[in-house]
Amino acid sequence: MEDAKDETTHQRERHKTQLYIDVKATQWPIIYSAEYNIGFLGLEKLHPFDSAKWGRVFEFLKEAGMVRDDTIITPLEAREEDLTIVHSRTYLNSLKLTDIIEGISEWSWNVAGITEIPPVALLPNFVVQRKVLRPFRYQTGGTILAGKLAIDRGWAINIGGGFHHCSAERGGGFCAYADITLSIKFLFEKVQGVSKVMIVDLDAHQGNGHERDFMSDDRVYIMDVYNRGIYPHDGFAKRGIKRKVELQHFTEDDTYLSLVRNHIEGSLNEFTPDIIVYNAGTDILDGDPLGNLSISSQGIIERDQIIFQKARTRNIPIFMVTSGGYLKETARIIADSILNLKAVGLIRCDEAEFSDIPEIEAAMRRSQSDGGLFSKMKRACLSRSSTTELNQIDNIQPTSNTR
Ligand SMILES: [Zn+2]
Repeated sequence: MEDAKDETTHQRERHKTQLYIDVKATQWPIIYSAEYNIGFLGLEKLHPFDSAKWGRVFEFLKEAGMVRDDTIITPLEAREEDLTIVHSRTYLNSLKLTDIIEGISEWSWNVAGITEIPPVALLPNFVVQRKVLRPFRYQTGGTILAGKLAIDRGWAINIGGGFHHCSAERGGGFCAYADITLSIKFLFEKVQGVSKVMIVDLDAHQGNGHERDFMSDDRVYIMDVYNRGIYPHDGFAKRGIKRKVELQHFTEDDTYLSLVRNHIEGSLNEFTPDIIVYNAGTDILDGDPLGNLSISSQGIIERDQIIFQKARTRNIPIFMVTSGGYLKETARIIADSILNLKAVGLIRCDEAEFSDIPEIEAAMRRSQSDGGLFSKMKRACLSRSSTTELNQIDNIQPTSNTR
């Protein structure tokens, strides 16, 4: 046991990650790779589970003219030497289909019936390794990079990740790698000035993975708002939550948003982190058979705005991961929420937005936006936005021109 511990310590000292790649000023701190998407040999078409939601979010952002292929950041795959910062080799070797879908089957049997089982359940393990675990390793690489980018840029969004049911020792609930724990451990280890982290977990499910990992680590403050009536019912992990908000089935927008608003404020009054990890699951959406809550798409957009606004006005770097929520309409909502954050001035990157387009068009776009309240904020993706101006966003409703 002692030897194993020593070996891990040495490993960490030796560990030089490739994942913190160099990024250009003309790239949005938005992370995505086509490798994120899971192909199920066509099985996904028989099923409401959207296994390509990440790619669809990116396509929507492109269609809206916010990003291009060359203005977002493509992460590398997390490799074994990265994953062993948190996971044991034994765990990594043991990854099996049953570990990953545990919980999904419980959800499906209890809540939605057998038709909701993701098509992954129908595939043999070697296919899962290739079709599922590899995309998950890319998304994990994305979450790890997002932590570093948020420190450099003030904010970042990984279009994937958020595997909050996976802890160092155990996968489950469609989560094979503990990407949130990994990103935080990387920050503690490799990025100066990060010694306190807040996790704000607003996925419909309890984030038992990171809760187990940081249970006795006072550097990490966890706020978790979840439906108490669904998977994972992890009573032990609940001890790791500093601010626990349990919801009833079919909670609606008004109740939900006022809880989120009050508790993020309360959390930040209690603990001042160097960075916030925002697990922005969309399975709170009305009609999601796994989340069993009744939040509207506009409610989700407003929720994300509240969290970003609280972080940005306090000058706390924040990065978002997209976590659960696999209905067909989910991708559109995530994209709309990101577009809304941009529209209200909470995220911005002029260098990316005006890069490599003809000067006349760039000038037109700039002058069009000059009348807006937030256009005065300069280069907000490189330097933090002005607190006073961001404070005014508190009173702004999410934009109505995004769906
Ligand atoms: Zn969930």
